[in-house]
Amino acid sequence: MTTTATTPMPAIFFGHGNPMNALQENSFTQAWAGIGRALPRPKAIVAISAHWYRPGTLVTTMKKPRTIHDFGGFPRPLYEVTYPAPGDPALAARVQKLLAPVVVEQDELWGLDHGTWSVLVHVYPEADIPVIQLSIDETQPAAFHFEMGQRLAPLRDEGILIMGSGNMVHNLHAFAWGRHPVEPFDWLIRFEKQARALMLENDPEPLIEYEALGRDAMLSAPTPDHYLPLLYVLGARREGDEVTFPVEGVDGGSISMLTVRIG
Ligand code: ZN
Repeated sequence: MTTTATTPMPAIFFGHGNPMNALQENSFTQAWAGIGRALPRPKAIVAISAHWYRPGTLVTTMKKPRTIHDFGGFPRPLYEVTYPAPGDPALAARVQKLLAPVVVEQDELWGLDHGTWSVLVHVYPEADIPVIQLSIDETQPAAFHFEMGQRLAPLRDEGILIMGSGNMVHNLHAFAWGRHPVEPFDWLIRFEKQARALMLENDPEPLIEYEALGRDAMLSAPTPDHYLPLLYVLGARREGDEVTFPVEGVDGGSISMLTVRIG
């Protein structure tokens, strides 16, 4: 299957949640698999994961990215998951050019972290689509990350899937580990509702300046790492793009599993 210039690839933000989703079949992971089946096959994927949050912008350039098990205290089978998708050094070079004048360093050390592979094992289980990762520069303000998404947008016309992976609401202090089912917190419900309305109205400014949205936003995104991948995807939005939410739900009361599809 091929994409044509008139049908750009969507950009998708996945709420990845618990790393154990990699091994589980549940309503979230079944929906991720459904997204993979429904999409035109991408030529490659540029993944922006909450778990590569560090100073500076780096892009992975290796031909065979390793699977990184960047978590602790989970059952052994999770450490045995591999996602052997190839890298794409030429795409990494293209991303460096697109993001100029932002300096993007080549990285040969990282690979694919669980923000990326815990979702992709379900979306593209064959692991036969090249994947590169782009780091999130923790020293930059939210607007920077939205602009990065804007600069990446032309890739959509080249059959490249821009994938953000985080959680729009991610508060582990409030998370009910092992206690299920649990009702979502009221601040989560309010913030998610507000954010969805802003996305449907195509009004991204308050979502970029989310820290000014008050207490609900602060409880929903107490640290920026899981929120910022959303801004890359919103930045890649263009006029006429529809926004849809193909996966919805809350895990542990304080993690929004919302998936946001642009285009
Ligand atoms: Zn995470």
